Amino acid sequence: MSRELIDLAIERLREDFPNKSKSWIRRALIRFMKGTIREFSENVWVVRGLPELGDKYPTYVVRFKDGKYYCSCFESSWGLRRKSEVCTHIAAVILYRNYRRLDSDVYVSVVNIECTDYYLEIPSELRGKVRIVKSVKVIDTTDKLNPRHRVTYVIYASEPIEVRAKLVCDGDVRELSLKLARTRRYMIELLTHQPFQL
Ligand SMILES: [Zn+2]
Repeated sequence: MSRELIDLAIERLREDFPNKSKSWIRRALIRFMKGTIREFSENVWVVRGLPELGDKYPTYVVRFKDGKYYCSCFESSWGLRRKSEVCTHIAAVILYRNYRRLDSDVYVSVVNIECTDYYLEIPSELRGKVRIVKSVKVIDTTDKLNPRHRVTYVIYASEPIEVRAKLVCDGDVRELSLKLARTRRYMIELLTHQPFQL
């Protein structure tokens, strides 16, 4: 397991549950790091109980249904209290899913430009299949009304396709042919979620 990926997976979990305590995150992380989560079938996971975390049963079943997670610990004697909360079995499953997703393959191309006005267009039939994320940084404000930007476009898809794109930069129009190359999804997170330091 990679530390960088684990950190990103935890960051996503924190973003999804900003009000949860450090100990909640820590317990989810312990469950994940001990390899207690197993995917049973689509949207069903089995989580091995850890007595040191107060688990009374050898296994717990977490299900994802209608956009919500349910855990078999809800049905235990503590269930009524727990039902309103997101237990750390669920948190561990979310962490596990975040990690797997970040570790999965994706196909990507990166375009860097510096302009005042910019635009990237892909053929309409590729919309939905190809995703574009951009990261913009102001680099020159000499002309306050028309500052110059450094723009990074990250173009990605789940298949290794070739994307024809039209790039407009200060009136200069270029036709690009982008061959999406295989990488791992966390690279996209690194390129787009964090502030650019170039
Ligand atoms: Zn639970």
